[in-house]
Amino acid sequence: RHIHKSFTVSGPQHLGKRVQLPAVCDVSLQLERGKTLGLVGESGCGKSTISKLIMGLLTPDKGTVHYQGTCLSQLSPRQWRPYRRQIQMIFQDPYASLNPRMTVEQILSEPFIIHTRLNATERRKKVATLLDTVGLSSSFARRYPHEFSGGQRQRIGIARALALQPEIIIADEPVSALDLSIQAQIINLLDELQQEFALTYLFISHDLSVVEHLCDDIAVMYLGRLVESSEVDRFYQQPLHPYSEALLQALPVANPRRQRRSLPSGEIPSPLNPPTGCSFHPRCPYAIDICRQQSPPLQAHHEAGLAACHRCDELTLDGLTS
Ligand code: SF4
Ligand code: MG
Repeated sequence: RHIHKSFTVSGPQHLGKRVQLPAVCDVSLQLERGKTLGLVGESGCGKSTISKLIMGLLTPDKGTVHYQGTCLSQLSPRQWRPYRRQIQMIFQDPYASLNPRMTVEQILSEPFIIHTRLNATERRKKVATLLDTVGLSSSFARRYPHEFSGGQRQRIGIARALALQPEIIIADEPVSALDLSIQAQIINLLDELQQEFALTYLFISHDLSVVEHLCDDIAVMYLGRLVESSEVDRFYQQPLHPYSEALLQALPVANPRRQRRSLPSGEIPSPLNPPTGCSFHPRCPYAIDICRQQSPPLQAHHEAGLAACHRCDELTLDGLTS
């Protein structure tokens, strides 16, 4: 709720001064049990910072993180521990997140060693079950991460995330390092696991074609702010924010009824020196004077969802899809 987070950076480009880099600005999100929220935006928009804030790996400067009525932001690291079991993470690069010196058995046993009192035999059984759950043979247990393909390694990463039967899984770009055909397999696996274990997902991605198949709701970030949040079906039919529209236009399979317009031109501005007014205005084809002066609030539009754009109503009524 209303999360803010900045980082202090310094370096030659800042003439040796320490400056504040705002990474997340007033972001509120809600994960609904058993559902998937897709968090979308270009790299550097604050998506990964959000996941670290939810995991308790970072503390918000302002705002709070709640889990089933408990305010996690007020807990000590010790009090956090039982919640840490409930929220697990899957990373983009399964290879980097798996210790190369450990066998799959050791990797998957670790959560049980840290969080449970299971003995070695019980742990071995658990590992075999986990491997089976993610579609891998139990004979893989004695092998090392480098012996596997990217897709298999991501299955191992998913098995590790499932070990302690969490309620929430945060998947940070879980398929973006994989080949297209493998991506589909992993997405299908995540889908099946969600049904089987009633999991709640926060699915972080820069790729809208991946999000569509898995997500119920979608939240779009730009330069640390939420610019749109709505239901996934409606979002793909008619996005509310010009930035969302531009992201959808970049998809290889475009909706033929949707007229093609140019993609946002120009670089993403530096968060150190964000544009005045709406931070999307230098790239927005619809920018008018007010956009350069006032930051648009995140508001409901036609009961369709939330968007932060001065011209949203006007554009979605007669502009964006006609
Ligand atoms: Fe574009 Fe203005 Fe809307 Fe920002 S507020 S997205 S610049 S139309
Ligand atoms: Mg990221």
